[in-house]
Amino acid sequence: MKDINIPASRFSTNSRVVFFTGAGISAESGISTFRDIDGYWSKYDPTKLASPQGFDEDPDLVLQWYAARRKKIKKARPNKAHLAISDFQKLFTDSMVITQNVDGLHWQAGNAPVLELHGNIHREKCFTCGRPGSEVASTKGAKSYCTCGGLMRPNVVWFGESLAMSTLSDAFEATRQCDIFFTIGTSALIYPAAQLPYEARNTGAFVIEVNPEETPFSEAADLSVRGKAGEILPKIFREFNAAIS
Ligand code: NAD
Ligand code: ZN
Repeated sequence: MKDINIPASRFSTNSRVVFFTGAGISAESGISTFRDIDGYWSKYDPTKLASPQGFDEDPDLVLQWYAARRKKIKKARPNKAHLAISDFQKLFTDSMVITQNVDGLHWQAGNAPVLELHGNIHREKCFTCGRPGSEVASTKGAKSYCTCGGLMRPNVVWFGESLAMSTLSDAFEATRQCDIFFTIGTSALIYPAAQLPYEARNTGAFVIEVNPEETPFSEAADLSVRGKAGEILPKIFREFNAAIS
């Protein structure tokens, strides 16, 4: 593979960096993405399995589906891309991960801080009052209840639901203030999260996209690198590390 040309010397260890990630960063950990042809979402009707209406109609089905996903995710380990982010975070001390993923692999890799725009599959909250619960205990999708009597559900953002306002405004704030913005493994289709790379671009950050496929954002990126995150990110890290550490 040819060298990736990064104008790394334009930046310093004080540069502020945002890593915006989607399902693609977890692909090399063995977790299916949303839109890939063999992605598990294609086998199910997302409006039944990941929506408040679907949960209302058949909570057992939804809880069992989430239990199966959780089981798969529990076996997964962070890959070279998550670990490269940890290396970057040692180089650039003012940095943040903003993820659309619910798998918790960024935390496992030691990435911090991490803003989870779409929640976390390992946690639950009350379907009735919204009270957050603890880590999900059942591995089989058994029902559990809140003190208010409401049924507990996965603490993730479903179709037709809004993102938490405070998380979203923190994400936009960090995006507007950063100097380097990575958009990694996301199809750049689901709004409002998909707005973040454009916001970064419009507020003057150097925007680097890493994705094996072209996305609707690719043309707007300062640099769009085709390839797997686990292969490309360590290379980009080495370029920055050699130029500015
Ligand atoms: P997406 O499935 O729409 O897009 C995934 C992108 O990753 C694609 O553009 C694909 O080309 C790219 N990709 C595939 N393999 C890659 C690799 N090795 N390296 C880099 N990129 C790679 O995902 P999205 O944009 O995150 O949107 C999906 C939604 O579904 C999100 O809202 C997310 O919450 C949810 N989701 C989460 C997970 C998870 O937590 N791991 C998994 C599936 C879906
Ligand atoms: Zn409740």
